[in-house]
Amino acid sequence: MPLYTIHIGIDDTDSLEKSCTTYLASLIVQFLLEDGAIFLDYPNLIRLNPNVPWKTRGNGAVALRVMVNDPEFTFQKILKIVDENSEIESSNPGIVLLKTTQIPSRIKMFGELALYQIVKKRQALQLINEYNGEYEEFGDGRGIIGALAAIGNTLDGDHTFEFLAYRSIKERSRDRGVDSNSVIFMSRETYPRTFNNYDFEVNRVLITPRGPDPVLFGIRGEDPKIVLKAASLIKVSQPIERYMIFRTNQGTNSHLTHKLDLSRLKPYTSGYVIGYVSQLPIIGQGGHVYFKIKNEVGEAWCAVYEPTSRLRKIASLLIVNDLIEVGGGVRRKYAYHPHIINVEYIRVIKLAAKIIYENPTCNKCGKRMVSEGKEKGYSCPYCGFKDKMARKIPKEIPRSLKLGLYLPPAHSQRHLTKPFQRFGLEKNGFTYHLIKDWFGLMNKPFNFINGSFNTSIPLLDIKNT
Ligand code: ATP
Repeated sequence: MPLYTIHIGIDDTDSLEKSCTTYLASLIVQFLLEDGAIFLDYPNLIRLNPNVPWKTRGNGAVALRVMVNDPEFTFQKILKIVDENSEIESSNPGIVLLKTTQIPSRIKMFGELALYQIVKKRQALQLINEYNGEYEEFGDGRGIIGALAAIGNTLDGDHTFEFLAYRSIKERSRDRGVDSNSVIFMSRETYPRTFNNYDFEVNRVLITPRGPDPVLFGIRGEDPKIVLKAASLIKVSQPIERYMIFRTNQGTNSHLTHKLDLSRLKPYTSGYVIGYVSQLPIIGQGGHVYFKIKNEVGEAWCAVYEPTSRLRKIASLLIVNDLIEVGGGVRRKYAYHPHIINVEYIRVIKLAAKIIYENPTCNKCGKRMVSEGKEKGYSCPYCGFKDKMARKIPKEIPRSLKLGLYLPPAHSQRHLTKPFQRFGLEKNGFTYHLIKDWFGLMNKPFNFINGSFNTSIPLLDIKNT
């Protein structure tokens, strides 16, 4: 039985063209399993602040929590794997090792801040030194931030799982060949325990990334067994080289738990704010909708962009004095515009009365009267009746907007966005044992006709289940 508990954080190992930090993590996992490490948790895929401007894609970092016999040997081996398999020329990898059974609360706090703020590499290095951690950096080493933040994010509250299937290098320039009908079938079979597989509004498969990276497809869900089962329902023409199940904060809104301060919005922070609509929505260039929100401490512009389609329509129905909550990220200010909140969801809490003012009706014949001019009263064009004292009559008209939560369609949601179906399915901490087939190396190409692969025969005999 290995003696030492270690946590390994990995980030910023990839470029847009190639590779992916999660794939590199799977190579490290393979080494750890072959070396007899005991996994204390599924590999953790932590999505950090999505409004960080220098992210490559989804701002994902990975933490591995294992028991090993020789932490130094393990770390050196991992560094070698990173060195040989990451995009060192075009990325800034950071690898962190922490030897501890309990993650110190200050490192947890760092992980928490990295979900919604900009944090500094200097802060990360200070903490690593204070807690006798080790690190290695390549390029400018910015990946140290995400690596430590992933270690600090122990997913003690709500979390989900993702099954990621990878393909080999020689397949990466070819079409993935994922059969969309099998995705639709899988999605229906496993609903509501898997999410964001297929966008039925625009008929689009969501489980495949675009571009030549190693990910063949990924399936998100509530527990490891359901994502494994869902994956077995996918028909795919390319061979799966390996797969791995991650525990993750995807689909949990964990970046939006912090309240934004309208009196001093900080660029690139994420969070939510409650307030009244203080400026009627306007439609700007490209169909984007802009309105203002105001509360006791300040006021700010909110932007709902065209790709969020449904959400944009909802935003355009808001009127002054509607009470709403918006979640999103703060865009930096430019000379020609102030800080803007890029809206990721709108919750309509209370609707203001929509009043229109109508001309009064004639006391004699009941027909609608016409104005005689400013402050001069009204006259009836039908019977000639005049009323100097008559004024416009306020009338409340029904609102087409309803109270409730509004999200963009699935295809334009962020990795961290909590989809509707997850409300009520939130978890509180990690209570699972690792299932037997959480990691697999596949030796055979998978046949499109036969469809699914057999997840019950992973090549590696994983002992620590
Ligand atoms: P992928 O999703 O494909 O893994 P990515 O979108 O995660 O790519 P990275 O290449 O990892 O992008 O780049 C993100 C960089 O931002 C990393 O160097 C990471 O350390 C850093 N970073 C992450 N969160 C924060 C934060 N809150 N403040 C400052 N820097 C951050």
